[in-house]
Amino acid sequence: MVGIPGVGKTSLLKTVVEILTKQNKSVSVYSFGSLMFEIAKNHGIQDRDELRKLPVPEQQRLQKIAAEKIAGLTEDVVIIDTHAFISSPEGYYPGLPEHVLKIIKPTNFVSVSAKPEEIYSRRIKDFTRNRDKITLANVKKELDFQSGIISACAVITGSPIKYVLNREGKIDEAADKIINSIGL
Ligand code: ATP
Ligand code: MG
Repeated sequence: MVGIPGVGKTSLLKTVVEILTKQNKSVSVYSFGSLMFEIAKNHGIQDRDELRKLPVPEQQRLQKIAAEKIAGLTEDVVIIDTHAFISSPEGYYPGLPEHVLKIIKPTNFVSVSAKPEEIYSRRIKDFTRNRDKITLANVKKELDFQSGIISACAVITGSPIKYVLNREGKIDEAADKIINSIGL
């Protein structure tokens, strides 16, 4: 699952797990960023929001180790909470470059979107995260870039992309769509 920061991926996946648990179905959710952070912690990184400021080659190294951990997971259904790209000081760089996709081999993509104004206000209100300078124009640019880069992922893997709109106050609706799109 990909989506720009503040679009609601982590909240949606929490709801997806709650719905499936009620139906006695199991699904495992991992955050790509958290896996990278676990590895980076051994190298002196203290805040997960510092990851995107590391030199790109270092982020790429961590990405590869995290991808290998994901490939080694043994659960039947694994959902990865991640970003199609990361805004770093050098510019946007892919969260799922070809070498990572070839390790993970995702069967489905879910691309989460929302109204730019809603994403903007979700970021502004979320004090738990250390976010970069937030502007509505940047949110719009990121949404544009997201749809381009996820198309490339689909072409590389041959896997389908489900676009899901996370409407304000309608997390349950979007979570149901996600569950249906991956046939759970
Ligand atoms: P990041 O990539 O930075 O981890 P994220 O995509 O995981 O971001 P969340 O942390 O899930 O985003 O959500 C950001 C904020 O938006 C949270 O405060 C969450 O409660 C709120 N939010 C998410 N979805 C909705 C929704 N449908 N309606 C209202 N608020 C929402
Ligand atoms: Mg999140």
